[in-house]
Amino acid sequence: MSQLARSLGSGECAELIRSTGSLVVLTGAGLSTAAGIPDFRGPNGLYVTRKYNPDLVFSIDHFRRDPLLFYQFTQDFMSLSKDIRPTFTHRALSSFEECGLIDGIITQNIDALHHLAGSRRVIELHGSYWSATCTSCQRGDVSGATFAWWDNAIQNSMRAPIVCCPVCGGVIKPDVVFFGEAVKDFEEAAAMVSRCDLLLVLGSSLAVYPAAVLPKMASGTVIVVNQGEVMLPPGRGRYFIDQDLNEFFQEVAEELGVEVP
Ligand SMILES: [Zn+2]
Repeated sequence: MSQLARSLGSGECAELIRSTGSLVVLTGAGLSTAAGIPDFRGPNGLYVTRKYNPDLVFSIDHFRRDPLLFYQFTQDFMSLSKDIRPTFTHRALSSFEECGLIDGIITQNIDALHHLAGSRRVIELHGSYWSATCTSCQRGDVSGATFAWWDNAIQNSMRAPIVCCPVCGGVIKPDVVFFGEAVKDFEEAAAMVSRCDLLLVLGSSLAVYPAAVLPKMASGTVIVVNQGEVMLPPGRGRYFIDQDLNEFFQEVAEELGVEVP
């Protein structure tokens, strides 16, 4: 007999967060799009509207041969994204961490909005634009790079739109995981998930590796908040909430009495 997917109210969710010994949060693309980050692959995504070849933009081999295509894409992306701020949910997660309610965040998003919101313990499986390294020397590393920083660096580069190392003039590569590179810190993420009591999955349909396998490693309760279909079968201790993330989190924060700036 197949089980029915069970939902949960914000009050019950808050109660689980309050009573759990260890809470880990996994976030996906839905959280980025809620912030206004442009979609890449959708019908109105950047790959389609600006005619980019998605296989080449984030290909590490192509980048090493010629970083121009990647930086043309990044220039478009940053000009659309430079004023984007963390959502209520990003800020709430940061406040929850400050109150000692969550152990850490695992994200597939490359937009660094968790950093910008003030979260400290963040595993970025696909890396992010938050830091960057020089491909030629060890001295040109960048950290704390916001979208506005990239937008500015691209516009003011001697080889615009390619961003160059201030020390040696080599090509700077953001620490985003390209096709052909390994996912970052997966073992640490898997260990966090397998030892937590409560896993909160936010804005992910869990369709794509590596996020797809993580909830299956959880031995405790799993709550998925996502609008639309989720590729995780129903089961004991699994709850599915098909609701707007920010609306839901406003209710949860209120129930918990956590002030979110
Ligand atoms: Zn350099």
